[in-house]
Amino acid sequence: MTRETNFCPTCGNTLRPLRHTGRERPYCDSCEMPYYIGTKVAVIVFISSDDKVLLTQRRFDPGKGKWALPGGFVDHDEAPKAAAIREVCEETGLDVHIRKLLTVIPKQDDGMADLVIAYGATVVAGQIRAGDDAAAVGWFSSDAMPPLVFYPCIALINLWRAGELDV
Ligand SMILES: [Zn+2]
Repeated sequence: MTRETNFCPTCGNTLRPLRHTGRERPYCDSCEMPYYIGTKVAVIVFISSDDKVLLTQRRFDPGKGKWALPGGFVDHDEAPKAAAIREVCEETGLDVHIRKLLTVIPKQDDGMADLVIAYGATVVAGQIRAGDDAAAVGWFSSDAMPPLVFYPCIALINLWRAGELDV
């Protein structure tokens, strides 16, 4: 997805393309500043137990009815780990301990995030209760996967099913 910005968010002046720090960027002649388009960062959390992985069913589009790893967007003033813990709690009712960074996945499809940070986590408290944008929550074994959505989730789950994800 391309995001266009036509006006300076500080002064409202029309931005014009100008080469700055190695690439063409929207530039405000009034503020004498380039406008850096914010990177939308999301987190996903891989929680496995007894050879099963915790998935959430999407309540809304995109991907309504399909399943994904719990996760969501990182707020602009929020640490990624805190976002991961918050999103898992909102969607599944479970409190997790983030154990490790698994990988960072740049955008490779028309998904809503520009950058996805994937963590491995362990459940420390709570009872499963679907909430927020999750319609259902469940544990799934690698040979009984439901229909999946979102490239980063599918890529991680495929690695896990191949025995190549050290969670
Ligand atoms: Zn300006």
